[in-house]
Amino acid sequence: MTQQNYTKREFLKLLGTGSLGIFFMSFYSFDDFLDDDLIILTKDDEKYDQYRKSFNKRIEKFPKIIAVCKSENAIKKAIALANEKKFKVAIRSGGHSFEGFSNVDNGMLIHLGLMNKITWLQENRVKLQPACLLQEIYANFLPKKRIIPAGSCGTVAVGGLTLGGGYGFFSRKYGLTCDNLLRVKMIDFKGNTIDSDKDPDLLWACKGGGNGNFGVVTELHFKTYPAPQSFSGYRMKFNNLTSDKFVKLIRLWFQATEKLPNEAFSAFVLNGKFLTILFTNFATDQTNFEKTFSSLIPLANDYKPMKNRNLAAALKNYYGVKEPIYFKNASAGLYTGIEDIEKGLEDIFSKVVSSKGMIYQINTLGGKINEIKSSDSAYPHRDINYLSELQAYWDFPSQEEKLTKSFEEVQQLLRNLGNTKQYRNYPDINYPDANNAYFGNNLARLQQLKKKYDPNNLFDYPQVIK
Ligand SMILES: Cc1cc2nc3c(=O)[nH]c(=O)nc-3n(C[C@H](O)[C@H](O)[C@H](O)COP(=O)(O)OP(=O)(O)OC[C@H]3O[C@@H](n4cnc5c(N)ncnc54)[C@H](O)[C@@H]3O)c2cc1C
Repeated sequence: MTQQNYTKREFLKLLGTGSLGIFFMSFYSFDDFLDDDLIILTKDDEKYDQYRKSFNKRIEKFPKIIAVCKSENAIKKAIALANEKKFKVAIRSGGHSFEGFSNVDNGMLIHLGLMNKITWLQENRVKLQPACLLQEIYANFLPKKRIIPAGSCGTVAVGGLTLGGGYGFFSRKYGLTCDNLLRVKMIDFKGNTIDSDKDPDLLWACKGGGNGNFGVVTELHFKTYPAPQSFSGYRMKFNNLTSDKFVKLIRLWFQATEKLPNEAFSAFVLNGKFLTILFTNFATDQTNFEKTFSSLIPLANDYKPMKNRNLAAALKNYYGVKEPIYFKNASAGLYTGIEDIEKGLEDIFSKVVSSKGMIYQINTLGGKINEIKSSDSAYPHRDINYLSELQAYWDFPSQEEKLTKSFEEVQQLLRNLGNTKQYRNYPDINYPDANNAYFGNNLARLQQLKKKYDPNNLFDYPQVIK
């Protein structure tokens, strides 16, 4: 390993660890490093790029140092080094931040990718390290017939997911991922471990407001639930939409989802002139469930019900792509109902249809998520039934400018309709007053907690809570 501006002696002095705990590539092979607590990577290292790159290929950032940490102790050493060198620190678990918030130019990236242990404490209580990927969680939990309500993408990590909220197929029944958080541990700017059992403010903040803001979360304890016996998916496809047909279908979809059972979830996905509507249900009675959306079925060009499937096999269908891609995705408004977008439906349709690569999606929330008081967790949106997401994908950097321009136009259109609430886990770097949109009335308390946990703003990224 090369050392750039740092000599081995300097590192060891800074870290105060003697020769234990930190090793250099020139003495050890990479595999040896993986067994150690802390790997320090600088630009000249062979593995620097592998650890630097995140899921979104659009965003390239180059930290001075990547501290790959495998233990709390390693994180403490990395923080000591960052303080000494006055580096800003970004934190990464799964690297799926839409806007590359888990990386930093010229600072330190604390990379937790190797901290992915799952420890069962009781049948209904589990301790997860932050970089457990959702596919690892499902693979471990389902044979034990347990679940937590989490997202669907297999390579998203539980750390970032929970700290910004976390919703998925099971959320209308069991709440957001963060609603099931029982305890967290975090290392702060001084290298102290804070345990939420002794400091309940921390648990409150980590329920939807903890992404990269206060310190490095190292442990997340969750309540778990019995896994459902089966999982059913109903996919409808509609081709060659016109504006009129789109408006008719979106109205019918909002009606169908108004009284959805809590075991169900639905997504409305407009991709150019093609629309896909998905309903899922993990209750066992499918006959009555199909009646919920019977108005849509005869209008579909293709309808594929897949009833009572094995849960593990069904969830794998939704894991999505594993390899990094070019994209710009963002929260496009949280809605109580169709009335929040009704006046702009034709404009939304015409913009999405004319922007190849753009997708406008609406997912159901509600149910158990809304049984919690807004002030009881940092995640504030407890009166919301729908989350929309704007997405744009491309294959080559040259396509980015045109698509992201159209993207901004749709976001502006939605803002003009009066949409001001957004989901923190779907950040948009261009969104004005973003932290108000993510946290609403809870922002003031989060700002107080930033002062308490990170008064020197060691942990930083473009939308950090200030
Ligand atoms: C393909 C894809 C599918 C998705 N599907 C869903 C879904 O179904 N449901 C849903 O709710 N969301 C979904 N998301 C959004 C996802 O929840 C967020 O992107 C989430 O923040 C990613 O977490 P991560 O740990 O993988 O990412 P990272 O980029 O590592 O982290 C995201 C943010 O959390 C911070 N952070 C991460 N770990 C820690 C830690 N240990 N301590 C303090 N801060 C930390 C980072 O600094 C960063 O700001 C999806 C995203 C993608 C790209």
